[in-house]
Order: sequence, then C-alpha cells, then structure tokens
Amino acid sequence: MSQYQVIIGLEVHVELKTATKLFCGCSAAFGGDPNTHTCPVCLGMPGVLPVINQEAIRLAVRSALALNCTVRAVSKFDRKQYFYPDLPKAYQISQYDQPLGEYGWVTIRGADDAAKKIGVRRVHVEEDAGKLNHLGQRLGDATGSLVDLNRAGVPLIEIVSEPDLRSAEEARLYLTELRAVLSYLDVSDLRMEEGSMRCDANVSLRPEGFAGSLEDLPRVEIKNVNSIRNVQRGIEYEVIRQTELLAAGERIVKETRGFDDATGKTYSQRSKEEANDYRYFPEPDLPPLVLDPQWIADMKRGLPALPDAIRADLVGRGIPEKDAEVLVLDREAYEYWREATALFQDERLVTNWMLSDLSRLINARGESFANSGVRPEGLVELLGLIQAGTLSGRMAKEVLEAMFESGQTASQVVKDKGLSQITDAGAIQSIVDQVLHDNPAVVQDFLSGKEKALAFMVGQVMKQTRGQAKPDLVNQLLRDSIQKNYAASQD
Ligand code: ADP
Ligand code: MG
Ligand code: ZN
Repeated sequence: MSQYQVIIGLEVHVELKTATKLFCGCSAAFGGDPNTHTCPVCLGMPGVLPVINQEAIRLAVRSALALNCTVRAVSKFDRKQYFYPDLPKAYQISQYDQPLGEYGWVTIRGADDAAKKIGVRRVHVEEDAGKLNHLGQRLGDATGSLVDLNRAGVPLIEIVSEPDLRSAEEARLYLTELRAVLSYLDVSDLRMEEGSMRCDANVSLRPEGFAGSLEDLPRVEIKNVNSIRNVQRGIEYEVIRQTELLAAGERIVKETRGFDDATGKTYSQRSKEEANDYRYFPEPDLPPLVLDPQWIADMKRGLPALPDAIRADLVGRGIPEKDAEVLVLDREAYEYWREATALFQDERLVTNWMLSDLSRLINARGESFANSGVRPEGLVELLGLIQAGTLSGRMAKEVLEAMFESGQTASQVVKDKGLSQITDAGAIQSIVDQVLHDNPAVVQDFLSGKEKALAFMVGQVMKQTRGQAKPDLVNQLLRDSIQKNYAASQD
C-alpha cells in the first residue's frame, strides 16, 4: 500500500480545422512540401501584422462551450517568448491571463460506473509552431536539422485540466471522453499520430496528510505524447519512478520529460520553465478579442447533441450501457447507427450486428463505419431477411461477408448462393425421419432424459440441409416425431 496519492493534470493541444492559419491567409492543410504554406506573417518577418481568423475563434468558442466553460466576452492575446528554431518570431502568440474559456468540466465514468467531473481550468487560443526534421537516426547523433514552417501559425486550442485525475486509467478516460466531445463538433481532425491532438501529462505524488496546494507539489510534465495509450504508459512509468525515488529518500525535481515509445520509459529533457521565464506581455499588434454575449449564447444553443446526452438517449432506448459507450465514443459508428435505425425499428438488432460481425469485418479490412462498403441500407436489408425468417443468424453472417467481398446487396447474395432458409416443414420432415432412423441409440438417449442428444440430431439435420433449415423448426419437428413414433415403445 502506497502512502502517496497520484495527482495528474493534462494539457491537451488541439489543432483547429480551419482553411487558413490563425493570423495570416496561408493554408492550414496538413502536409504539403516543406515551407510552401508560408508567408511573411507566419515566417515572422519584421513589419508584418497579424489579423485574427474569425473561423478559428468560432471553433474555439464552440469547443469551450461544449466543455462547459464560461466564455469571456473580452479576452486578449499575449506574447510568450522563447527561443527555438521552430518559432520564427521567437515568441508565440497565445493567451495568458484572460483565456477565451474557463471553469468547465468533462465527465468521466470508470469501471465502477460512478461519474466523476474533471475540471477544465481553461481553454485558450494560440498558434502552433513549425516542425524540425532531424537528419540521422537519433536526435543524439543527428547531422543536421531542417525546419518546416507549414504548421507555424496553425490555430490551436489548449485545454488545461485541473489536477483532478487520480490514475493513468482516469487520464485515459478523460482523453477518450474529451476526444469524443470534440469529435461531435467538427472542430478538428483529432489525429494524435498526425499531431492534430497532443497531450502533455503532469504527474506528481501527494504524500498522505499533505494539506498544501497541489500546485506546490513538485511535478513532472511528460511532453508531447502521441497516443492515449502512451499517455497512460508514460504516467504509469512516472508513478513507479517517483515512488521509488521517494522510497529511496530522494526528492522529485520539477522537470520536463519525454516519453520513449520503444522502452515505455520517460527521460529527462530539461528543468521546467516557470511562467515568468516566458516574459509574457500583452500582444501589442492585436486588439482585445471582444465577443457579443448574444452571439456566445446563440453558439451555445447551436451545439449538437454531445456524448452525455447521446449516452442517456441510447440507454433510455434499451441499448445496453456497454454498447452505448462503444457507439458514443466513435462518432462514425454512432452516425451509422442513426442512419440504420431510421430505417429499421429493432434498434438492438442493429446494435448487435454493428458491434459484432460488422465491426469485425470493417476492422479486418481496415475500413471504418464512415467508408465501409456495406452502408446502413445494406445492413438493414440483411436484418430484414433475418427478421422475415429467410435467413438464420448463421446464414446472415455468411451473407454479410459475401456482401463485403462482392459489393452485392443481401438479396443478390442470397439469390446467387441459393441461401435462403428452409421454413417449410414438409421439406425438412423427410430428413428428420431419416436422421431419427439412422440414430436409434441417440433417440433412446434423448428419451431417457438426455436433452443434449437432441442437439446432436438438430446438428445432423442442419448438416444435411447445408445449414439452411430453420433451427427452431428442426427442433420442433424432431421432438414431435420422437413423441409420435418412438416414445410409445418406451411404455
Ligand atoms: P504550465 O505552464 O506549467 O504547463 P499550466 O497552467 O499550463 O502550467 O498547466 C498546469 C497543469 O498542471 C494543469 O493541467 C494542472 O492541472 C496541472 N497540475 C497542477 N498541479 C499539479 C500536481 N500537483 N500534479 C499534477 N499536475 C498538476
Ligand atoms: Mg502549459
Ligand atoms: Zn502565413
């Protein structure tokens, strides 16, 4: 048992999906030949002036509101000075003491299902830096570094949580929920591998009985981790490392650390800057950002349904909580579900097929719900055939696979493969009689009370009909025939 409590706060950077950069007209699109999305403004040439991108502000306000933040009617921009080759102006335009949004929260639900509110301290707008491409295998033996400023000046929001998270697992839940909320807003691509969503994790250990401010605990900031899984791994490693240091009587130094994907370890990068190292001051080239409170209120009303509301709606419709969770966390899956259930009233059947067989096939083909060859109409047609008794569940699985492979509709596949289910008792009866005749010992077993013997005979009939007989019909016919032709001899 540890005498320390794990304290975690996350800073998440999200690139906003605008056509142009935050303070100039350059393309904000990902990729492009190095330094082709640049101009004197984002290259930091002397004498140029920034102009705020209105769409970036709209997306930032939408995000802050969706995270339950209060949006300031007046906020301002500040210069954060630091010297690094990816930052041509030698300062980043950010927001310091008057961020766009404050005092929000994200609700997470752990395995025990108790909801927990994680505070969102602030959401502010800032510009991204450029990218350094190091020549050579590792940074340590790089022979040179190339600077690409295509990302310099792309709009970002930084979402800073309160230090409310208490485990690596809670950090995972928070990031998953945060990403889900943002996904419904169309504000960002949210691709951690491409860097459009990045996370810094602050980790400290609070000694039992410590009553001071959490801000005063020495914390480590793990910088720029590129997947939720790695944030979790980095925190897990850090908790062990810090616990061992303290157990050995050493002190935790406040520092910035990197995360090494290959080893799962964090490594020291530099001692952590304090706010006053950045010499923040108000950006003199930009006016304060003044937003009409009425416009903010309209934006709030215009928010789409968000995960909490969607979850409640799904569960209210009788969708099991686990399934609702899977649907909510994947917006494409949820939209697929909505389209399918608009056409088909058995929502649980849609859910079951989507989350089992359809998911499996989509994943195996590297597709997603949005670009899967089998569209909601196609799935619904298949489910209709199950409901009408034309296909058994087992046959439907086969049909679905064939639909993926051939691009055909369910009914085309059924026709081509001659697959429809035999529901006519007359057509099955002779096979039932034959199976009973061929397996007298099994019939006796059944009569002496072994229910399992029936399953064997059902299997035999199914085999002879190539799986096309309707299983419950076979079951019934077998029972009836045994009753009629064999049971009497027992008396
Ligand atoms: P900085 O500029 O130092 O990164 P920020 O205000 O941007 O400061 O972010 C500080 C982050 O550190 C917040 O996410 C906050 O929740 C977190 N934090 C504060 N105290 C602790 C602590 N004791 N342990 C872990 N995280 C903490
Ligand atoms: Mg920070
Ligand atoms: Zn530019």
